[in-house]
Amino acid sequence: NPGSSATLAHALVAALATGPAEVVARVRATFDSGATKPLEWRLRQLAALRLMLTEQTEAFSQALQADLGKSPKEAYRGEIGFALNELDHTVENLAQWLAPRPATVPEFFRPAEAKVVREPLGVVLVIAPWNYPLQLALVPLIGALAAGNTAVLKPSELTPATSAAIARLLPRYLDREAVAVVEGGVPETTALLEQRFDHIFYTGNGVVGRIVMTAAARHLTPVTLELGGKSPAVVEPGVDLAATAQRIVRGKFGNAGQICVAPDYVLAIGGTAAELEPHLAAAVQGLYGDDPAAHPAYGRIVNERHHDRLTALLGDGRIVTGGGHDRASRYLAPTVLADVSPDAPVMQAEIFGPVLPIVPVPDLDAAIAFINDRDKPLALYAFTESEQTKQRLTAETSSGALAFGLPVSHLAMPDLPFGGVGQSGMGRYHGEYSIDTFSHTKAVLDKPIV
Ligand code: NAD
Repeated sequence: NPGSSATLAHALVAALATGPAEVVARVRATFDSGATKPLEWRLRQLAALRLMLTEQTEAFSQALQADLGKSPKEAYRGEIGFALNELDHTVENLAQWLAPRPATVPEFFRPAEAKVVREPLGVVLVIAPWNYPLQLALVPLIGALAAGNTAVLKPSELTPATSAAIARLLPRYLDREAVAVVEGGVPETTALLEQRFDHIFYTGNGVVGRIVMTAAARHLTPVTLELGGKSPAVVEPGVDLAATAQRIVRGKFGNAGQICVAPDYVLAIGGTAAELEPHLAAAVQGLYGDDPAAHPAYGRIVNERHHDRLTALLGDGRIVTGGGHDRASRYLAPTVLADVSPDAPVMQAEIFGPVLPIVPVPDLDAAIAFINDRDKPLALYAFTESEQTKQRLTAETSSGALAFGLPVSHLAMPDLPFGGVGQSGMGRYHGEYSIDTFSHTKAVLDKPIV
């Protein structure tokens, strides 16, 4: 009908005429109006996001398939369903998280009342990466909106189908005056970063993390940096190696290894290095069959540049299983490398792909020293039956998270904080930690004047 095409034309003209300054000014005006502060507004946005995820499951799933070869099952598990879990947990607990908390007033100051109040920060910028391009855009957004902020969302240009789907669908469901999606790569992000935000939430690599933090410093804007790094999986002698190998393989090769908390390498203590080899090979075969290229659950590398980077690492050790690759389809087989030297290129930077080196170390002391000699990882995993080993790893190493017996899954528990430390990032989110991140925690004191 003519009415809706006129509206469309108007929206198009408005979109073309809007630069980053206008976009930020628009959502800032909404924040300043106070519209986003009531609990009802926040819950309405979360309900709208929920509706979007359930009504548009197919559209997002197709986009994720096009960008990363993600199967519908994997797209649901790691992206759509993951965001819905976070959303439901937030809706269920939000009123309680936002309730003012009474604080004790020392005797000397009485009579008086003191409390702690969480208030929204203002305009939040979310910059998302490509490996979980929907989840890592929406989960921070859920926190930002639940905390009463307005937001600008910048999806990754490396996953263009998902980025386009977000840009097309989000404004159909959410308050358009409060949430804006800006698509683009380096120039667009650089232009956005010139604007003043009240918080910047960046997920990606440490090089860009530094660029983001430098830009934020100009406006004294606080940042959350969700970065990566090499997350080790320590394996101690005496554990069930078949079960251990299955857990490691599941954590490592999902999304073709492009998971920020995937085990980056195995730190095999004593004889486990050699003993693990057949178990890892069997676990890969058990999960993806004889031809992972034909298995629907096995993903693809995001682009040719990353494919080239990863295939260049295949000579850094003896191939136990895998090694096959095809540039045209961006396929790289789940690959395990043995006899890997700590000085090999594969052990220098985060692998972020389906290549798993096994690095032997003589004992637990050597494993702890190996970990502590390097950047603090985003996650540390260990397979051990020893309580003493668990205690030593907890006390003597530092990492974003520490998990015994199960890699990756801690990030799906919304009561656990998710974030890095040192070079793996700063700040944390998920569940109530997101509310902390996107709020100012204000002290309120009230003493009678007379
Ligand atoms: P990416 O290249 O998609 O970059 C992330 C974002 O930064 C994108 O939106 C991109 O447009 C923007 N960007 C890129 N270059 C820029 C520049 N010069 N200036 C301003 N903005 C720029 O993602 P990536 O960094 O390749 O992602 C992989 C890394 O992210 C890995 O290290 C991985 O471990 C990490 N990661 C961490 C988490 C986490 O939750 N901690 C999650 C996923 C990925």
